[in-house]
Amino acid sequence: MPTAPVSNLFYQSRQPRPMLDRGEGIYLYDVTGKRYIDGSSGAMVSNIGHSNPRVLEAMRRQMEKATFGYRLHFQSEPTERLASETARRMPAGLDRVFFVSGGSEAVESAMKLARQYAVARGEGTRWKVISRHPSYHGCTLGALAVTGYDPLTVPFAPMMREMPKIPAPTCYLDRDNLDPAARGLKYAEYLRDEILRQGPESVLAFIMEPVGGASTGALVAPDSYYARIREICDEFGILLIYDEVMSGAGRTGAFIAAEHWGIVPDLVVLSKGFAAGYMPLGAAVARSDIVETVLDSGGFLHGFTYAGNPLACVAGLAVLDEIERQDLVANAATMGALLKSRLDGLMETYPFIGDVRGKGLLLAFELVSDRASMRPLPKELNAHSRLVEIAYERGLIVYSRRTRGGYEGDHFLVCPPLIVTETQIDEIMGLLDGALSQFADEIAPSLVA
Ligand code: PMP
Repeated sequence: MPTAPVSNLFYQSRQPRPMLDRGEGIYLYDVTGKRYIDGSSGAMVSNIGHSNPRVLEAMRRQMEKATFGYRLHFQSEPTERLASETARRMPAGLDRVFFVSGGSEAVESAMKLARQYAVARGEGTRWKVISRHPSYHGCTLGALAVTGYDPLTVPFAPMMREMPKIPAPTCYLDRDNLDPAARGLKYAEYLRDEILRQGPESVLAFIMEPVGGASTGALVAPDSYYARIREICDEFGILLIYDEVMSGAGRTGAFIAAEHWGIVPDLVVLSKGFAAGYMPLGAAVARSDIVETVLDSGGFLHGFTYAGNPLACVAGLAVLDEIERQDLVANAATMGALLKSRLDGLMETYPFIGDVRGKGLLLAFELVSDRASMRPLPKELNAHSRLVEIAYERGLIVYSRRTRGGYEGDHFLVCPPLIVTETQIDEIMGLLDGALSQFADEIAPSLVA
């Protein structure tokens, strides 16, 4: 594996990684020429694949004109157009767009906009943002405060204002006799209980990933959950924020996942697939009256230097164009259904696959010691990193985490770019099957014990 022997660069750990050379479609190549299938689109980012020539050309043209114009000095055409194109794809009423450069920034922006809206309406007592556990909303201190993922949050707890959490709807772990609709309602009621416990006048918003990402592994709630959550928020005048950083921009087979349930959130947060890795870009999209109220009260006290720069917005526009041109939302639905059924099929061969879940091309499987009880694999096996390493060696990239939050299980996100074809799904499944088979041999002795 060709890696930099000594590097001044640092990230989470010392684990060396191959040196990236180039990308093309769903493939990435390292400097030795080894090819990898980008089976997780990086971190669920590269939705339209790598090196799309039309996006590169649009960016090149913009670069020759202007790469940066500060948003308080200039409006720019790409930025205006991207705001309109984004609004056009949102549920009616969600038509004001605030640009940022990533997911954490977008979450911070949505929460601060919500807070200023409450203050402007004379509801200054409202500041708590309820979220779910497990969940992931970003790494900056505000977004981290609503993140329910102990390994990332605990060391920073003294530096953050603690925010209330309710259990995420991990119905696949439940062994009660409820039907899915009743289970969905059970989890939604946790929100109502928590609002009453906190005092409704203190609660500003509820933030949730409609289809879970890194912390839960593509967690989808029963249909009943989504409508009931909306109702509860309305009952208490609490803003509903959908964090669609990962699930948005077509990944689940709808432009935003909220469409699957006909839900209109008050704020939607986008990033990742929005500019699909061509530039750092994110957005907080809000109801018009929220924005107007905040602007009337003196303006939004928030903004990032690089926000709404024309180059990032041109990349975003070209990506949206590509999603439409290639009908990638529909492809995510079709290829997602195919990939999910193929992953379901793996459960017959590998008893240690406990669950397969997700929507569109936001899919995951979870490994367990015992499917009936969903007892996780022993922690010492480090399954989430070991299986990824095996797949990597074989030229397949998947994304894994250990779910945390009362329960610890290893899950793997299989989320190829939305351009993936049936033949490429065969290729992914061939590599994954090989990796799982090798992994099965490795863990067999531990499971017998
Ligand atoms: N929200 C969700 C749902 C995410 O998946 C992520 C990134 N994994 C973020 C927010 C934070 O995005 P970023 O890493 O771009 O700050």
